[in-house]
Amino acid sequence: MREALKIIKTRTKEEKLSNNHNETWRDWKWQVKNTIKNVDDVEKILEIRLDEKKKKQIEQTLEKFPMAVTPYYLSLIDFDNYEKDPIFKQAFPDIRELSISKCDMEDPLNEDKDSPVEGVTHRYPDRVLLHVSNVCAMYCRHCTRKRKVGDISSIPSKSEILKGIDYIRNNKNIRDVLLSGGDPFMLSDEYLEWILDEVSKIKHVEVIRIGTRTPVVLPYRITDKLVNVLKKYDNIWINTHFNHPREITKDSRIALKKLSSIGIPLGNQTVLLADVNDCPGIMKKLVHELVKNKVRPYYLYQCDLSEGLEHFRTNIGIGIEIIESLRGHTSGFAIPTYVIDAPGGGGKIPVMPNYLISWSTNKVVLRNYEGLITTYKFPDNYEHTSCDLKCDKCDLTLDLEKHKKEHTDGVASLLSDHDSSFTIVPKNLDREERNRC
Ligand SMILES: *Cc1c(COP(=O)(O)O)cnc(C)c1O
Ligand code: SF4
Repeated sequence: MREALKIIKTRTKEEKLSNNHNETWRDWKWQVKNTIKNVDDVEKILEIRLDEKKKKQIEQTLEKFPMAVTPYYLSLIDFDNYEKDPIFKQAFPDIRELSISKCDMEDPLNEDKDSPVEGVTHRYPDRVLLHVSNVCAMYCRHCTRKRKVGDISSIPSKSEILKGIDYIRNNKNIRDVLLSGGDPFMLSDEYLEWILDEVSKIKHVEVIRIGTRTPVVLPYRITDKLVNVLKKYDNIWINTHFNHPREITKDSRIALKKLSSIGIPLGNQTVLLADVNDCPGIMKKLVHELVKNKVRPYYLYQCDLSEGLEHFRTNIGIGIEIIESLRGHTSGFAIPTYVIDAPGGGGKIPVMPNYLISWSTNKVVLRNYEGLITTYKFPDNYEHTSCDLKCDKCDLTLDLEKHKKEHTDGVASLLSDHDSSFTIVPKNLDREERNRC
C-alpha cells in the first residue's frame, strides 16, 4: 500500500488531511474522479522524469488516443522497473501507437457495418452486442475499439439504448445479449438495473452477458449494492479481461468472490500482447490464478488489426505454442480457446495445434501432448441415421417448426442431410463474372 498512499498524497490535498485513506481508496467513485490522465501526474507518482523529446511524443499520442488510469491500477506497477512492467505497458501511451501500418484498419471487425441500429452489433445468428457505454475505468492501450472508447459524449441515453432493445425485441432469433462497451459497469447501478430490466422483459432472450474489466482495473466497483442488483437476475454471465498474473491481487480476488458467490459464472478473455504476456510460462500462471478464483479462461485473442496496435501484435505461432504448452499439461478447464477475430467481420476463428495427423476409411491417427501417436478405429457397422427433419421417425423430440425456421447456414449446412446446398461460393470470383457475359 506504500505506493498507493503515495498516490493519494499526490492526488488530493483533502485526503492528506483525512485519516481515512483506506476507505477513500476503496471508493470506486473516488478512483474514477482521481483517474490519471496526463503525463505530468504519472511522472509525479512514479517519481520519474521523462526526457523532453519522449514527453512531447507521449503528449502527441494522447491527442489521438487519450489516457486514463485508475490510481489502483497504477499502484500495481513496479515503480523501480516501470518501463518493462506489463501493467505500465497496458496503461501508458507509446509513440508507436501513432504509426499506422499498411494493414491497419479503423474498424477491423466491421462492427460498424454489422450494425443494424446504432449501438447493436449483430454478426452471429442468435446473439448480439449491445453497446451500453463508451466509458472505461482505464483506457487499455491495446483496445480494439480505441476509435470509440474515450469519446466524451458517450454514455448512450435511455432512448438510444431503447432503440437497440427494440431491435432485439423484434428479432426472435436473438437468445443471448452481450452488454458491452466500453465498460457496462461504469454506468450507475440504477442505470444498469434499468437496462437489465428492459432486456429481461424480452421473452426470447435466454442469457445476458456482461463484459467488464472493472475486476482488473477498478475492483472496488464490485460493491455489495451492485451485487444486489445482479442477484435479481438468474441468467447473467460475466466475462472479464485479465491479461497478466500480476493483475490478480487481493482486491481483485475479493471482487471476483463477490460475483462468484452469487452464482454468476465467470469467464476471462485475454488479449495476447507482445512483451506483456506472450510467454507460455506467464500464461500458465495466469490461467492457474484465474481458476483458483473460479474464473474460467474463455478466449485468448489474437490482437486485432486496429490502428495503433502494431507494436502489441504477435505472430500466430506464439499463440499456438501457448496452447500446446497448456493442453494436456494442465486442467482442461484452465485452457482458453485461442481465436483470431477475422478481419472484415468474419467473427472468431479458433486456431490450435493439429492433433489429427491422418485418417483412412476405418481409422484416424492422432497424437497427444507428449508426442505419442495413436489410432482410433471406427466401429465396423456405424450407420448414421440420415436426418430428414421428421422427428416422428426418431427418438428426438425437437420443436420441429422452430427447428426448421432456424435455418443453419455456413459450413454446417453443407454437412447437414436435410439441406440441399452443396457448395458455398465466394462472391466476386472472376469466373462468375465471365459466366454472366
Ligand atoms: C465475440 C462476439 C460475440 C460473442 O461470441 P461468442 O463466441 O458467443 O462468445 C457476439 N457478437 C460479436 C459481434 C462478437 O464479436
Ligand atoms: S476495458 Fe475493454 S473496451 Fe475498455 S479500453 Fe480496455 S479493452 Fe477497450
